[in-house]
Amino acid sequence: MGEMSRSGRQGVPAPAAPARAMSDPGATGRFGTYGGRYVPESLIPACHEIEAAFREAWSDPEFRGRLDTLLTVYAGRPTPLTPAWRLSHELGITLFLKREDLTHTGSHKINNVIGQALLAHRMGKERLLAETGAGQHGVATATAAALLGLKATVFMGERDIERQELNVLRMNVLGAEVVPVTTGSRTLKDACNEAMRHWVSSVDNSYYCIGSVMGPHPYPWMVREFQRVIGEEARAQCAAELPVGVPDYVVACVGGGSNAAGTFAGFVDTTARLIGVEAEGGAAATFGRAGVLHGFRSLVLQDEDGQVTEAHSVAAGLDYPGIGPEHAHLRDGGRARYETVNDEEVVQALLCLARTEGILAALESSHAVAWVIRAAKSGEIAPGSTVMLTLSGRGDKDIASIKELL
Ligand SMILES: *Cc1c(COP(=O)(O)O)cnc(C)c1O
Repeated sequence: MGEMSRSGRQGVPAPAAPARAMSDPGATGRFGTYGGRYVPESLIPACHEIEAAFREAWSDPEFRGRLDTLLTVYAGRPTPLTPAWRLSHELGITLFLKREDLTHTGSHKINNVIGQALLAHRMGKERLLAETGAGQHGVATATAAALLGLKATVFMGERDIERQELNVLRMNVLGAEVVPVTTGSRTLKDACNEAMRHWVSSVDNSYYCIGSVMGPHPYPWMVREFQRVIGEEARAQCAAELPVGVPDYVVACVGGGSNAAGTFAGFVDTTARLIGVEAEGGAAATFGRAGVLHGFRSLVLQDEDGQVTEAHSVAAGLDYPGIGPEHAHLRDGGRARYETVNDEEVVQALLCLARTEGILAALESSHAVAWVIRAAKSGEIAPGSTVMLTLSGRGDKDIASIKELL
């Protein structure tokens, strides 16, 4: 296990001590004691190759220009910052929504996937590999592959294929191959294992497109950088809208943590309180312990024997037993705080936002809404406060699953 043994799995690795929060984690890809690169020896060169290609691309104005153009003319950026007029009034606060639900394919995932697909194309790869749980990242990957003329192979647990039929059809229509994963619990965590295994055997012509701030270095850093556009736009929009320029609270839901990381990156150097909201049944930042999962060290849900446990949430996109390593570091350092909400609160929040604002948010995004509603009502968010909430995606996909709860 190459770099894993060199950096010392047992001892606490030397932190890279970044000059400022949410900056470049350096060659080791460490966020404090988290992150790193825990992959089989055979994948170490591929990780190095991607890191070098990303560093070069990210400082190349031509690459940045192509990405910006696609985000604008294809993905629909910049997304608006919408005042939630009636809900603000009801809660006695000023609430703004960063509308990632209005992007092409309906969630923030497209920001990252267009970036990685452009990188894969630049590296001369022919195929994108991806894993998907609810199917949202798979659909985004299939979309970006079609856009750039790449092939796409998406690994998906057999159980998720049954539960997310519509997204499987969407991927097929977009020309992607969906590979059923029949091992383990036949869900996302098994699909991750299978995608990684396949990558080992096809690394010459395939690029592994990871859907959140997870996986071996450079992925957590690279995905955060591709999602940073959310936070930077929101920061500028707040500066234009608000008397003081900076909101009191910045709130986002957390599965792996990519929409939250991109959002926080725009505000980490301000006085705003950063709040990540997890599903109670998948709250790795709250209930997890340090461990290694899918190539990185972070907080992971596990039993007393260190076995990774299953996550459960009404929102399939938050059903992951780990959290991005940078979030674990932000939590330990106290710069960001992580809260949990339960399924019932989430469904009520979805209905509440739909009926007060006419916005049907994804169940994942509704976690952030649920916490804001609870905290404003309890007085934890002081009356008159300003809150900037990233609405990560739209809820059309969730209609069937909330039907019986109405
Ligand atoms: C996938 C998904 C999430 C969770 O992913 P993060 O990496 O935590 O952002 C949240 N919201 C929506 C709409 C999603 O599709």
